[in-house]
Amino acid sequence: MNQQPNPTRNVCGRPSETTQGRATRRRFLATVAATSTALLESRLHATEASERTAAPDDAAPQDVATDDIAQIAITLDLEMSRNFPTWEDTRWDYEKGNLSDAAKQYTVDACRRVKERGAVIHTFVVGQVFEQPNIDWLKEIAATGHPIGNHTYDHVYLLADSAEQLQYRFQRAPWLLRSRSVAEVLRDNIKLTNLALEQRVGVQANGFRTPGGFANGLNDREDLQQLILDLGFDWVSCRYPAHAGIEDIHGSDRPPSPAAYENIVAAQSEAQPLMYPTGLLEIPMSPISDIGAFRTGRWKLPYFLQAIELAMQWAIENRAVFDFLAHPSCLGVVDPEFQAIDLICDLVEQSRGQAEIVSLDTIAQRYRTSLAR
Ligand SMILES: [Zn+2]
Repeated sequence: MNQQPNPTRNVCGRPSETTQGRATRRRFLATVAATSTALLESRLHATEASERTAAPDDAAPQDVATDDIAQIAITLDLEMSRNFPTWEDTRWDYEKGNLSDAAKQYTVDACRRVKERGAVIHTFVVGQVFEQPNIDWLKEIAATGHPIGNHTYDHVYLLADSAEQLQYRFQRAPWLLRSRSVAEVLRDNIKLTNLALEQRVGVQANGFRTPGGFANGLNDREDLQQLILDLGFDWVSCRYPAHAGIEDIHGSDRPPSPAAYENIVAAQSEAQPLMYPTGLLEIPMSPISDIGAFRTGRWKLPYFLQAIELAMQWAIENRAVFDFLAHPSCLGVVDPEFQAIDLICDLVEQSRGQAEIVSLDTIAQRYRTSLAR
């Protein structure tokens, strides 16, 4: 028997690594990580909306050179999620791209909502969805300026050791692999999504996000970095830093522990853009994802909102990046009123010019320049 991939821990259907990343990050980030704990203490005790104020100037890092404004991205991975909309739902493991009407509607509504605030959402699409008869919803998203990136065709696991480990679908239907190597399947899977996006929506994929997130990103995997570069991408969103303390609190009345929030804020400095040796730029996903909160921790929505606020405050105060990751198939179930997305827009608005909502390619552009120095 082939080994089954582990169940999702934090991102979207793949195991997360536990070791710390070794890629070189901007030096200043190390200097500001220490401020997180003190900030967190004050935030955890803040209950009034009016207390959403910036930290004193002396908490800001010294070495911010080109990074004089925080960049906030709202990203949605367009795929179905196991355990949603009901906890018993598992068939999505085999049909990641077979988006439900509810997930599609939530995506469209979220994009409209953010557009009304003058910003865009960066979506990443699983190519299987292009086998559905109607993709007008995605055409509308593209036409209104929201970038659409590639999230592979079958939601494959890039770090798989064998072809069968790439996706549940290939374990049930191994003939689909046609004796191809892992690298060949990955190449085909990413290419197919580019093709489908071009043929059915008429746009080129804007960036690539790996299914699942890896705490080490693509460190030590120059072969994968090169594969992604060869397919025409110069940035990837792959890294999801490890953060501890997320207990399953389902059925209890208690909120997440202070340690859980503290770890999430501390992980923000590990979620900053970096350059791999091959020249591929990494724009990590920022903890905590909706899957981490609502599947791994079984959190209630207010706890997730609190984590977003704490993480964003760190990002704004440090003029850093916050790359919010959610899935309409999950977030749409727990947060039908768009409170998380509205909160992000509100916090940026309240930052009085210290933060902006941008797409990941805009972040890539800025960091390609600053990291090359
Ligand atoms: Zn995914």
